[in-house]
Amino acid sequence: MNGVSCNLCGSARYEVRFQSEQHDVTVLDSCHYAATTDVYDGYGRVVECLRCRLLYTHPRLDATELLAAYRSVEDASYVVEIEGRRGAALRSLRAIERFKPSGRLLEVGCATGILLDVAQNRWQVEGVEPSHWAAEYARREFNVPVFAGTLEEARFPDSTFDVVVLADVIEHVADPKGLLREIRRILAPTGIAYVATPDVDSFFARVMKGAWWGLRPAHIFYFSRLTLQAALAEAGFRTLAISAYGKYFTLSYWVSRFKNYNPILCRTALQILAFCRLKDFLVYVNTHDSIEMIAQRVERRRNERN
Ligand SMILES: [Zn+2]
Repeated sequence: MNGVSCNLCGSARYEVRFQSEQHDVTVLDSCHYAATTDVYDGYGRVVECLRCRLLYTHPRLDATELLAAYRSVEDASYVVEIEGRRGAALRSLRAIERFKPSGRLLEVGCATGILLDVAQNRWQVEGVEPSHWAAEYARREFNVPVFAGTLEEARFPDSTFDVVVLADVIEHVADPKGLLREIRRILAPTGIAYVATPDVDSFFARVMKGAWWGLRPAHIFYFSRLTLQAALAEAGFRTLAISAYGKYFTLSYWVSRFKNYNPILCRTALQILAFCRLKDFLVYVNTHDSIEMIAQRVERRRNERN
């Protein structure tokens, strides 16, 4: 367990934003770390930094325990929604290609490698993924090079990539600022980072409060546009574009997300979808409660620290 200060500004002063009903966060079930988990309750206490307004889980598991959980994740259901994830990947790539049309692309936390597979026609792709199961899946099914471990462990040389993708990952890691600095180091001088994460300051998050889907046991950091931009600036990036991030899933997947809110209604809706043969119908929903940010590496002045 860790009592930590704010990752962004270092302040230890905070106020509680969401009180946890779970008193012992040291016994998280491994299902919480799977990307497709629908277990949203039981998240730890979420606090807001009084200086920079970053939200984070406090207290929480230490970094070593956290990483061990991700290394052992096996999530076969992740590949069930593959067409939806391909749609989302294509959309992200289009956003990236407005600024960089081709080159070397790395995805950090690439899971089963769906984005890398979509990208590999135009890009020279590579992935990094802590889950050994997912990394092996990507290599076997899509024939893409994926390092099983963390970005730091991969030890890429300076200025290796033109683009680094970080989609729904930064909220899970123990040191987001350290990760962004490492990404900056391995990016070419005009390289760009693509970062997507839930938006804790969005209208939907504010209305849903403690029942918002973004509040999950495995999420440690909750960014807003302001705090994500500040984290990127601190790591040596200039923001090029900000937009709201949506998701493609089948109708049955969207409906199943409401299981925790109303299980009976959810079950009935799933039966109706199956009867109408609509359960695999692909739908893009943009609830405007995720942020998509594209930022370019900037050169630091000589008197600034790295
Ligand atoms: Zn702070």
